Amino acid sequence: MNPNNGYIKMIVNPGSGSSSNKLLVRRFSDYLRQSGFDVRTEYTKSLEDAQAIATQAAVSYDVSMVAVAGGDGTIREVAHGLQGSDKPMIILPCGTENLLANELGYNEKLSTIINAFDNEIIRPLDLCKANERFFTSVAGAGFDGEIVHTVDAQREGHITHLEYFHPIWQTFWNHRYPVMKIQADGETIFQGKCLVIFGNISRYAVGLPILRDADYSDGLLDLCIYKCNSRLHLAKHALMTVLKKHTYCKDVIYTQCKNLKITSAEAVATELDGDPGPDLPLEVTIMPNSVKVIVPPNATPAGIRTKLMRILD
Ligand SMILES: [Mg+2]
Repeated sequence: MNPNNGYIKMIVNPGSGSSSNKLLVRRFSDYLRQSGFDVRTEYTKSLEDAQAIATQAAVSYDVSMVAVAGGDGTIREVAHGLQGSDKPMIILPCGTENLLANELGYNEKLSTIINAFDNEIIRPLDLCKANERFFTSVAGAGFDGEIVHTVDAQREGHITHLEYFHPIWQTFWNHRYPVMKIQADGETIFQGKCLVIFGNISRYAVGLPILRDADYSDGLLDLCIYKCNSRLHLAKHALMTVLKKHTYCKDVIYTQCKNLKITSAEAVATELDGDPGPDLPLEVTIMPNSVKVIVPPNATPAGIRTKLMRILD
């Protein structure tokens, strides 16, 4: 990247992240300035604001790159704002999970971000759309949707992993497995009690490899249906997923598609990238090659062990 090609727009969510995240943003900005780049920082006031700033950057003739510092929500809105633009996006992960950043090979080390910037390896990122809402990473209907709705109702500002524990426990005991009808590319592939996970990245929370084969650039949505009607059954699914054996189970359907439709006669909670999602019916489509993202060289997503070590660190 050449400093003469324009300035770098730094979009920062001041509400997300710890003090070490704020230091990361400052040190990366310092690095860019010392390398001769003009960095202009803008702080977001809301998620809508993040998208609006990115949309503005996308059409600004003198912006060469967009750097986004925030959690999954901020990154999603910036990606949405940049949709269709050829301006590359670099990520400074500052959230709790950083699902997309992790998938792209980022961690919270300054050296990783500098390495990504210096090597300028650019990959296309597909975006997903559920009804009228965008998401980048993983979404779900049923069990995990219910957890996310519970967490959200209790949420006050920045969230930690600990705040998920009680809602997961509570949902585990109270969840009634709803009957859902799942259609992929116009064909009904399952109807029955289940929980559904779908999206575009291979690692879910704490590095769980649920959508094992997902590739964020392949123009396809990965879909995993866990047929499930009891707590014992769910516990078995969880264990098989940790062991990376879930896709071999008879009671799991794993497939890829371009369009997905989920309907139910019951009220079913959904989540999109860890935020409460819309009510059913849900229609999901993939929008290939929506954004250009800069990824670190030899990027591989961190797995369960690495993610747990980072949480405990
Ligand atoms: Mg994909």
